[in-house]
Amino acid sequence: MSKNILILPGDGIGQEIVAEAVKVLDCLQKDFGLKVELEEALVGGTAYDDSGSPLPESTLKLAKQADSLLLGAVGGYKWESLDIAVRPEKGLLGLRAGLELFANLRPAILYPQLAEASTLKPEVVSGLNIMIVRELTGGIYFGQPRGVRTLDNGEKEGYNTLVYRESEIERIAKVAFDIAGKRDSRVCSVDKANVLECTELWRDVVNRVGEAHKEIELSHMYVDNAAMQLVRAPKQFDVMVTTNMFGDILSDCAAMLTGSIGMLPSASLDAKSKGMYEPIHGSAPDIAGQDVANPLATILSVAMMLRYSLDEAALAERIEQAVNSVLDQGLRTQDIFSEGMKKVGTADMGDAVVAAMRQQ
Ligand code: NAD
Repeated sequence: MSKNILILPGDGIGQEIVAEAVKVLDCLQKDFGLKVELEEALVGGTAYDDSGSPLPESTLKLAKQADSLLLGAVGGYKWESLDIAVRPEKGLLGLRAGLELFANLRPAILYPQLAEASTLKPEVVSGLNIMIVRELTGGIYFGQPRGVRTLDNGEKEGYNTLVYRESEIERIAKVAFDIAGKRDSRVCSVDKANVLECTELWRDVVNRVGEAHKEIELSHMYVDNAAMQLVRAPKQFDVMVTTNMFGDILSDCAAMLTGSIGMLPSASLDAKSKGMYEPIHGSAPDIAGQDVANPLATILSVAMMLRYSLDEAALAERIEQAVNSVLDQGLRTQDIFSEGMKKVGTADMGDAVVAAMRQQ
């Protein structure tokens, strides 16, 4: 039976990189028997311009009906001065919350061909393969109360609330233990239990879930130390599991270990493995419309979609091998370019991946 994929290009380079990922999906449909129906909708700043909302009802409805979603990115200079309630990023947060996508999987893998692209020494990062599991629908990004209030003396005060229920911690911990079971069987839970009561509870619940997964080695680390260890000796980690905000920060840090934010896909899953797949980077307004953005993170997001939501592991592998092949051929977008390589634009990189998929 055909599966429905909702395509959400979003803003900035989102339009360009998603177009390349769609070429890959078209190729899988035409040549490799993938049965999917693609539908497209607006989200983020372009949706706001169209309808006054970064997440129109019609988009949310299609998102709920779809089997999977492929998102480019949202945001840009143009919308920065909007009220926070209608900023493009609200569209993304609304999708995550509306679809209950509580588990964000962010692999940080260093492609050997790009070892030189990392700012860290090759021996520190070569062979790096970390999976960061970030809680995505709770914590301080969603906690109430929140806002900016004026105190009696006229001074303004901003406030947010960090809140986690046991059930929220338990379900994300289970995802992390399950993934570790398919990898190197190690989970490091990251918190700030020495200062924040909420993450003291986080640690207790993760320990409790760990009791049922004795085959997995569980460790705990404070977030400040985890940030330090990620740049000091990142290969010590297998799976890291953490809160929404800590995961936001640590996963970008882990991404940079690999040399380029333009190479890394991500998945956000609900309890039934329905997912929204997107590159980890943003809409890069500084390079939008110039045909220089790296489309590989988005193309690799399609591979994650095939593996985690569509049960098409062989097709996922075909994409991943094609990406390896174009890197072997020396093709590089600007962000991963180094001396002696061949610089290509966004569309040429997409075409090269499609050609490599057909050549296998
Ligand atoms: P960004 O990830 O968009 O860009 C950071 C830097 O990385 C920029 O120099 C950019 O040119 C570069 N870059 C990013 N993706 C690239 C790619 N595929 N190829 C080559 N270079 C790439 O982060 P930012 O500049 O902090 O944010 C820009 C906008 O994106 C903001 O409005 C922000 O809110 C939004 N944003 C959206 C998401 C999302 O949609 N998931 C995530 C992060 C930021």
